[in-house]
Amino acid sequence: MINISDRLAALSISATLAMNQRSREMISKGIDVINLSIGEPDFDTPEHIKEAAIKAIHDNFTHYPPVSGFMDLREAITLKLSRDNGLRYSPNEVIVSTGAKQSLANVMLSVLNPGDEALMPAPYWVSYPEMVKLAEAIPVIVPTGIDQNYKINAEQLEAYITPKTKLFIFNSPSNPSGQVYSRDELKALAEVFERHPNIIVLSDEIYEHITYQNKHESIGQFDSIRKQVVIINGMSKAYAMTGWRLGYMAGPEWLVKSCQKLQGQYTSGACAISQKAALAALLGDQSAIKCMVKVFKERRDLVISYLREIPGFEGEIPQGAFYVLPDVSAYFGKKVGDKIIHNSDELSMHLLTEAHVATVSGKPFGAPGCLRLSYASSTKVLSEAMIRIKHEMEKVR
Ligand code: PMP
Ligand code: GLU
Repeated sequence: MINISDRLAALSISATLAMNQRSREMISKGIDVINLSIGEPDFDTPEHIKEAAIKAIHDNFTHYPPVSGFMDLREAITLKLSRDNGLRYSPNEVIVSTGAKQSLANVMLSVLNPGDEALMPAPYWVSYPEMVKLAEAIPVIVPTGIDQNYKINAEQLEAYITPKTKLFIFNSPSNPSGQVYSRDELKALAEVFERHPNIIVLSDEIYEHITYQNKHESIGQFDSIRKQVVIINGMSKAYAMTGWRLGYMAGPEWLVKSCQKLQGQYTSGACAISQKAALAALLGDQSAIKCMVKVFKERRDLVISYLREIPGFEGEIPQGAFYVLPDVSAYFGKKVGDKIIHNSDELSMHLLTEAHVATVSGKPFGAPGCLRLSYASSTKVLSEAMIRIKHEMEKVR
């Protein structure tokens, strides 16, 4: 009998994409589902970026691009890293990929051997542990609580490091918790990594622009660990470019070369037209970002005010990204009709089938007591969704 490989059999389906697919199917059957499952800006890509892509087609950027990305784009990325993050990189320390997702997977496949340990604070983004498993390494989860705003501290980090630890993966602003690390918090972590120079620090900064209080800080700013830090970023969130599939990595040259080798055998360079669009996005007018963040903040405040009205939905106010992660464990073991809600998977499914609101269970994010809601939708849609959730939860006893 022919079976899929053990490697793939052990891999979970992306919970965010699965829930998105399920709600799309229900919508196609005429069911009025509100989809708060996927983390995707509802804004359209700004006009000047689209124009650059159209021009790229007319200018015949329709051939294979260089595997690591066009030089002008890699230069623009170094400029962006300096302008927005105060980080100094050369184009040789940058590689462009088909989404930040590929950049992350490239790094994991490049550095992890079977049996190596990859540390990540929970809650984490769903794909991190699965990518680690794909590299036949071991995801080691460091639990963090609501009392510490779901952020790992230096003592916890130190306690989980073993001789097998090869990688530390985190993101700030965080998907799913929305929490943001301060400079001091990152400095304390950097001091630990300084004592462990063989650990690669994978810093996923894709939500960097979406912060509501304090500016994003990059762990790449600490020179003492510069050789260990790998920055992941992409166009999806800041420029509403999810469908263009463009991300990048900045880090040590040896790692860039390894990712280039992998990409060269696997996918080749990222879409040439998207690369030209990304160039326009990074070098062009940045004001659209500010407008989007202002709107996201209004939506966050709206969703939080509704959540406060639902007894048993507990949580801190997110400081960045566009997700809320209320702890809903007060409902576990309670009944709605004849049905008992045992966990967040069941609560999420119940809200989808009965209230027609798609959320994602916290379980695949390492937050089994929580539900994740994306508020990247209009205030009208969000209000309707929150009213539906509130009414449904009133039936649970
Ligand atoms: N990292 C995080 C934390 C994300 O939420 C996402 C979701 N898009 C990605 C990476 C991947 O982004 P991209 O669309 O660039 O592949
Ligand atoms: N990052 C988004 C999310 O967490 C998009 C879905 C995905 O790429 O998994 O919902």
